Amino acid sequence: MNCIFCKIINKEVPNYTVYEDENVLAFLDIFPVAKGHTVVIPKKHFETPLEMSTEEFKNFSAGVHIALQRVETILSPGGFNVGWNQKEAGGQAVPHLHVHIIPRYEGDGGGNMHSIVKNPGDKTPAELFELFKK
Ligand code: AMP
Ligand code: ZN
Repeated sequence: MNCIFCKIINKEVPNYTVYEDENVLAFLDIFPVAKGHTVVIPKKHFETPLEMSTEEFKNFSAGVHIALQRVETILSPGGFNVGWNQKEAGGQAVPHLHVHIIPRYEGDGGGNMHSIVKNPGDKTPAELFELFKK
């Protein structure tokens, strides 16, 4: 498969490893938006978590947790933003699931989750909740 992250898993492309176990590889992002920007990928190719079993997602999440601890221990940033871009509409460029661990530093000028998009839609949360009740 012509996937840059699968190539990293297969050691065809080098990486700066932060953490690795049988299920995940965490490595420094090559175009960091912050010092210590790290991406965590499952070793098996999935585009999004929606294709994963609960067990596969649990194992992946456990790896994200350890990678987060590694970055915290080594760089001690002021905080973090952690998450993933999902599908084209969500800004995903590499179609192999990857969680971004973005360290945040006091006064770095960055935003937060609320700055990703401002498109609340035409229904109130109470109206939308009707869909989830069924
Ligand atoms: P996304 O926009 O969520 O798909 O993010 C893809 C991320 O992968 C970007 O932050 C890229 O800088 C990063 N990236 C792409 N290729 C590499 C690579 N070879 N090594 C490390 N990070 C990479
Ligand atoms: Zn892949």
